[in-house]
Amino acid sequence: MSKDLLLIDGSNGGGQVLRTALSLSMITGRAFRMKGVRAQRSRPGLLRQHLTAVRAAAEICSAETLGAELNSMEIEFRPGRVKAGAYSFAIGTAGSTLLVLQTLLPALLRADGQSTVRIAGGTHNPSAPPFEFIQNAWLPLIRKMGAKVEVALLKHGFVPAGGGLVEATIQSSAFKPLELVSGSDGPAEIVTAGALVSAIPVSVGSRELDWVASRLSLERRYLTVTDLGDQAGPGNAVSITATRGGVTNVFTSIGKERMRAEQVADAAVGEFRDWAQSNASFGNQLADQLMLPMALAGAGRLTTARLSNHIRTNAAVIEQFLPVEVGISSGNNQVWIDVGRRSR
Ligand code: ATP
Repeated sequence: MSKDLLLIDGSNGGGQVLRTALSLSMITGRAFRMKGVRAQRSRPGLLRQHLTAVRAAAEICSAETLGAELNSMEIEFRPGRVKAGAYSFAIGTAGSTLLVLQTLLPALLRADGQSTVRIAGGTHNPSAPPFEFIQNAWLPLIRKMGAKVEVALLKHGFVPAGGGLVEATIQSSAFKPLELVSGSDGPAEIVTAGALVSAIPVSVGSRELDWVASRLSLERRYLTVTDLGDQAGPGNAVSITATRGGVTNVFTSIGKERMRAEQVADAAVGEFRDWAQSNASFGNQLADQLMLPMALAGAGRLTTARLSNHIRTNAAVIEQFLPVEVGISSGNNQVWIDVGRRSR
């Protein structure tokens, strides 16, 4: 176990700063102390999703922890050796299973042997990657970078009921550098728009897709409503899947009680347009979630629509742990993220 403790200020970011630190601590063997965990969020400190990520990471690498408690705003994490194995974690609320999985995946890819990880909680959460984003946008890219991983959705889980279940199968593999930029990437093309309804009227999904179709002049053949019946708690999501420069992006909006179908659909349309009006291949969310794999590969480059706080704060944590530099620049209606080995 490393003796030198990295001090990380978590107060400018959200849960992602913590999750990136956990992933990198497991991989590098460097211990860290984080103060101000999610300090500026309305409910600061460790929520169940974050606490599950800390405990799961600790179990996988036999870490010693301090402050790993609900609502804690300061934690210390001293990692041991990462072990492949069959793991099962439950968030205990509808918190995002996929954010917990993203925390564990980089370390398990480097472990000796195959792992399976099951996580119970939410699979379609506001402000987190929904399953379709992981399956159709994020995973294809990290597989292209060399990751050997499959993720299955065993049961849907929505806020507030939860009860979702995902399972990942992970084999030893390393990230290799990938230039995720194809230069002049051309126009954005919509592949499909989908609405997911669970224990609510199918007409909600149809209205959402009518709205998307009218806003984006889409033909009906691109639209699919999926009705999950009553197998999970009430829930609703609208996703627009689109490509540019060979990159698939998924823009999702999650329905909420008392939110009109048209408003839910409009949020997904807004996310799509924000990206489509730039010249970038990657939406901001996909971009911030690819920074860690690029940094672990030691190099990589991509373009995104806007510079988000997630991109900024993630870059800072990555540079604290790894001998890389994350260059961020803008031009030609896009933002460039360049990861390279630190020269000094
Ligand atoms: P908080 O923001 O409350 O601290 P959090 O744990 O949800 O908590 P964030 O730091 O906000 O953490 O990170 C959320 C992650 O989810 C980011 O990587 C962001 O890109 C991603 N994300 C959010 N919404 C979507 C979406 N609709 N599709 C894909 N990814 C998303």
